[in-house]
Amino acid sequence: MSSHCAFATRLNDQYWAYQLLRRKLRTKLACRAIKTLRPKDLCNLYFSLHRESPVSGLVPSITSMPQARESFLYMALFASIYRSACPGDIRSEIDLNAMIFAWDTFCTIYPNHILERRPFGRIRPANFDEAWIITEAMKDGLAELPYCTSCHLPYLVIHGCKYQQVCQMCVLNQMRKSKYLIG
Ligand SMILES: [Zn+2]
Repeated sequence: MSSHCAFATRLNDQYWAYQLLRRKLRTKLACRAIKTLRPKDLCNLYFSLHRESPVSGLVPSITSMPQARESFLYMALFASIYRSACPGDIRSEIDLNAMIFAWDTFCTIYPNHILERRPFGRIRPANFDEAWIITEAMKDGLAELPYCTSCHLPYLVIHGCKYQQVCQMCVLNQMRKSKYLIG
């Protein structure tokens, strides 16, 4: 019985490993969700899918991801799709189904802005690694998606980020308005 369960778990992990690595999630991050496959197995799978090794180096951090105010709007969109697709609590664990759905939807909306290597533009998440970091930050409470009572949209808050924890959509609208008044 238990060996049957172990087999099913491993098969399930293999399926998710394929889904995650196909979208180029670096194996360092995939290891956090896939427990029954060794990092070496994940690297081999990544190489067999892409004929290149996964990106190495530092994992991107949520606090340094937005380089411009506009980035918050895109990140909030991705986070909202993820949250809507998530059947459970986003604070308990990353829902892989919802995560992949949100990323594929985001890529359909911005097909030409998805980049694997720097320099990245304003549209973030720029790649699946960054998408993963956003969902992980929401799980860990490092990022939140409160509702803005002024523009009636959810906005993204990143704790410890250099940007103020306010609705960036409203800030941008305010800036545009004052520019119009002055100009
Ligand atoms: Zn707002």
